[in-house]
This record gives sequence, structure tokens and C-alpha cells, in this order.
Amino acid sequence: MQEKGTISIHTENIFPIIKKFLYSDHEIFLRELVSNAVDATQKMKRLASLGQYKGEVGDLRVEVAFDEKAKTITISDNGIGMTAEEIKKYINQIAFSGATEFMEKFKESKDANEIIGRFGLGFYSAFMVADKVEIESLSYQEGAQPAHWVCDGSTEFELSEGSLTERGTEITLHINQDSEEFLSKYKLQEILDKYCRFLPVPIIFGTKTEDEPDGEDEEGKPKYKQVDVPNVINDTNPIWTKSPNDLKDEDYLEFYKQLYPFSEEPLFWIHLNVDYPFNLTGVLYFPKVKNEFDFQRNKIKLFSRQVFITDEVKDIVPEFLMLLHGVIDSPDIPLNVSRSFLQADSNVKKINTYITKKVADKLAELFKNDRKGYEEKWPDIGLFVKYGMVSEDKFYDKAKEFALLTNTEKQNFTLEEYKEKVAAEQTDKNGQLVYIYTNDPEKQDAFIQSATKKGYDVLVMNSPIDNHFVSSLEQKLEKTQLKRVDSDVADKLISKEDAPAHILTEEESAKVKTIFEKAINRPAYRVELESLNPEELPVTVTMDEFMRRMKEMAAMGGGMGFYGSMPDNYKVVINANHKLITRILQDENEQEQSQLARQAFDLALLSQGLLTGADLTEFVNRSVNLI
Ligand code: ADP
Ligand code: MG
Repeated sequence: MQEKGTISIHTENIFPIIKKFLYSDHEIFLRELVSNAVDATQKMKRLASLGQYKGEVGDLRVEVAFDEKAKTITISDNGIGMTAEEIKKYINQIAFSGATEFMEKFKESKDANEIIGRFGLGFYSAFMVADKVEIESLSYQEGAQPAHWVCDGSTEFELSEGSLTERGTEITLHINQDSEEFLSKYKLQEILDKYCRFLPVPIIFGTKTEDEPDGEDEEGKPKYKQVDVPNVINDTNPIWTKSPNDLKDEDYLEFYKQLYPFSEEPLFWIHLNVDYPFNLTGVLYFPKVKNEFDFQRNKIKLFSRQVFITDEVKDIVPEFLMLLHGVIDSPDIPLNVSRSFLQADSNVKKINTYITKKVADKLAELFKNDRKGYEEKWPDIGLFVKYGMVSEDKFYDKAKEFALLTNTEKQNFTLEEYKEKVAAEQTDKNGQLVYIYTNDPEKQDAFIQSATKKGYDVLVMNSPIDNHFVSSLEQKLEKTQLKRVDSDVADKLISKEDAPAHILTEEESAKVKTIFEKAINRPAYRVELESLNPEELPVTVTMDEFMRRMKEMAAMGGGMGFYGSMPDNYKVVINANHKLITRILQDENEQEQSQLARQAFDLALLSQGLLTGADLTEFVNRSVNLI
């Protein structure tokens, strides 16, 4: 039996074109061929369990070997095999029809990236690395004859009698010159580790026995160099395929270590398991994330039936959960995922919603069952939760029950609890609740102390997401406003009744103002007199909450826009009721007056860490003189 034929493709030489565009991803040929081999063994298993195959199934396995000398890579399996007819049908017609379609689309569209990835390359990807591909196969069917197929990457193929005596398929790639890097143990091991680590059948990897003898043994028989003993390289039963009931905490931790050997232990995890309306299993871990934005994205691995696909899970996993670690396995996601596919696919949207819900449920459960433990974890999970609340309304609605606000005393409150706590003291004359926060407890200590003295509570909002979180809370919470503790003097943070007049006359006030304006002599600092508690500092420098936020937003958006171009604008609040102000006013010596004013202003800057460089030096010198 010998047959020659032409693969039904209208265009010659499509290989070079596809090769060129798939250049960066050449290694996936191994994933494709190994997963075909795995599919073939799985089909065998199914046929046997359905009773459609009565023979011996044996130990199903896939073997990957390479021969550096012969420049071949061989993938063999003892799956269902193919008859010559089946090779013609599945390989010549079906496998190559994807390529034909690819070419047609390629002609229409000039954007190669847009079309690549929409086509399952499958078997065909072998030609990215091989000049010639051979198939030896023997079907499981009774009386089947072995078949041999060979194709050199042109549209011509040759089909003849094969040589296999046992059921299964052996694919041999004659590696082309550009792809010789794949003829290396380390390279292949690396690719197999990446894609095949959790495949459901044993993958055996090794090298071949040398053809030429490498000397003689004691009895004078030729000795062959045996390189490496082939061994199973995968875990066929990873934990996400098991039932949560059969797993202990150690198993989850062990698996985590296997995936991320250099990471700290995770905080907790969620075992995902759905089969309707889509199929999905997986384990998601909450890693320890510190308060920096250095967290690593792309730590979740996406699998399809235990074949690794990608660690870019954007679109499948909600943006705010990209910081999670772990695995997701869904047969509803094809091997060759592309961006456009993911965005269009309705399953993907459902998966996204499902994961969001599962994460929210898990957090709610932790909060309910072990509030203390939950509070301990809050510094690590707060970032996720806030990120989620800011970016997804649905998540906000669930998370508002278990999101925590932490104050400077390190006490935690739910949103509802906090409202109750501060309502009495922190409602202004218009019935607005005012929450006061600090983004830097160290630097704003003087402000915090003043606020605390007034009986106000101060929240700590110093994580990288808190800017957004603050805005988000203001939008969602009714009649509630958030103000940074240094956005005004404590007396003015929450406007209660109209403040009583201060002790200075109008004339005196104007004089104080002029003294300070001259002493400070900087246009960005606006001087204002306020009637404050005599115990408060004589001078305080503040930046308006609204102004500061606008500038921060402009800075995040690249510093453009109206607010971005505004110079920093500070308010210098003079406590008209303070002894020192009276003393300055009464001082007869103009120079001394100015010095004292400048000194009081510098002290205000100093307490906020705003006094630096030459100003600081000058302050120190002046202080020495004054002493
Ligand atoms: P897909 O795997 O998406 O069906 P491929 O191009 O990878 O597409 O493979 C085409 C077809 O060739 C497979 O569906 C299968 O029928 C057949 N095939 C490929 N490899 C093997 C194998 N090792 N054993 C049996 N059949 C195979
Ligand atoms: Mg395939």
C-alpha cells in the first residue's frame, strides 16, 4: 500500500508565512502534540469504560524522546491510534483545514496578530519546528493495519504501510535548522514543565540510546551509551482535580509551595468547583501582599483539562483578583486562547462573575466565623477587598459587610460600626458625617493629636489604593464626607456651630496678617486668621482637601490638566487666640516681630516634615540666636 496525495490547501507555501508570525511561540508545538497524545489515551480509557473496547488497555502513557544525532523529537502514546483512513481524515483534512482558513483570513486582514490565535494550530504546529513530520500509527480497532504518513511541510503527503506492532501513535519531527535549540534536554524539560506538569496521564521523558556503540564491555560486546533514564515528569492528579473533602490544609499548602517555591505561605484559599453552566475547577490562593504595589500579576495559571495554557488570565479573572495565585482549569476555554476570543466569549464573563462571587462568599464566611482571625489578615487582604470595591459595584455590595476601616488606635470597624461610633461627635451642622483620615500617621502626628483632643477619631488610609477607596466611600456612603486630617485645623475640620469671634480687633487682625505675610514671603502660602482654641498651635499649615485630591488625580493621570498645572497651594492658619500671636502683636521691635512670626511658621512646617534644605538650616541658625 502506498499512496501519494495532495493536502487540500489552495495556497502553496503557507508554512513559511505562518511560521514567521508564530515565531515567538514555537515551543507550543510540544504542548499541542503531547495533548493530542493525551487525548488519544483518554479516548482509549473512555472506550474501555463504555465497554466499546474489550481488550487490554494497559498502562496508558505518553513518551517524549529526542535524538540529538538524528535531530528528531518523538512523541509516542498508547492511545487509540489511527488507521490510514483516519489519518487522511483527521490530519490531512481537518488539521489542515484550520490552516486553509488561516490563509484566507490572512489575505483579508493585514493585521496578523488579530488573526493568529483564532485558529487552533494543533497538529499543524509541528511544522513550525520541523522540515518533515512522520506519523506511525496503529489503531485500537480489531484487524487494523499500521499506517505510516510522511509530509515535508509542502502540500504533498505520502501514506504507506506502517511498522508499529502495538496500539498507539508515534509522531517523529525532523527538526529544522532554525529549531535545533529544541534538541536539548534542558529546553524540552523546561517546556514540558511549563505545559505538561499536571497532565492526567504519565508523561515519560528521556533521551534515546545511542545508535553507535561507545566501546565494549568486559565480555567484548558493544556498549551503547544510555543517556538519562526516562522517568515520569508530571503529577497526574493535581489537587484541583480532587474533591475538597479529600484534602487537608497541608495538601493545599504543599501544592502552593510546588507552584511558587519562593513565596511565603498564603493566607487562605478557595477551591473552585462548578459544572453548570460552565465547567471550571481550580484553587485560588490569597498571597501575603504587603502595603506596596509591588505585587505580582499573572500568577494564576490557566489550564484546559490539565494542559497549561497561559498565565495571562485577564478577562477570565476580574482585574482586582489578578493578584491572587493558583490555578483555574476549564475545558470550556480552548487551548489557543486569544484576546478577542476571551472578550467575546459568554462563558468567560460567567466565569468572571462566578469567581467574584466565590471570593466574596469566602471572605464573608471568614469574617463571620472568625472575626479575630479575619482582622489579623486584614492588613494583607484589605488591598484586594478595597481594590474590588473600587472597581466593581457588585463586589462593593457584598464587601460592604466585611470591609474594615482601621483607626490610628489600630481598632477595626465595619462601615456600619464606624458610622455608629463617630456619628455623635463627627456630624457637622448640616447633618453631614465627616470621617477624618490620615495617609501618613507619622508625618501628620500633630494634626492627629489635635483631632483626637477634640474627640474625633482618625482613620488610617495609607495603602496605595486608599486614594480611590476614599472617593469610592464618599460616593457610596450617604451624607458622608472624608477629610484628611491635615486639610484644615482641627477646629475647622467639622464645622459645628458658627465659630465665636476671636480676641483680636479687626485692625489687630490685619496687622498680624501683614506681619506673617511679610515674614513668610511666599505666594503659595495664603495667610488666614482663625478663632481657634488657645491650646491649639499658633500656626498650622494645611492644604485644602479638594485641591489636594484634584492635584493627586491629575498627577496619576500624567500631571496634565488644569489642576495638574496649579502650583501647590497652602493655607497658613494663624490661631488668633494663641498667646504667642498676642505677644508678636505687642512686640515693638519690627525685626523681632518678623523673626518670631517666621519661627512660628517654620515650626508648623517642621511638624509636617515640610521644612528642608536651606530653610531648615536657616531655621536652626535662627533658633540658636533666639535661645
Ligand atoms: P484537535 O486536537 O484540536 O482535534 P489537532 O490538529 O491537534 O486538532 O489534531 C487533529 C486530529 O488528529 C485529532 O482530533 C485526532 O483525531 C487526530 N490525532 C492527532 N494526534 C493523534 C494521536 N496521537 N493519536 C490519535 N489521534 C490523533
Ligand atoms: Mg490537538
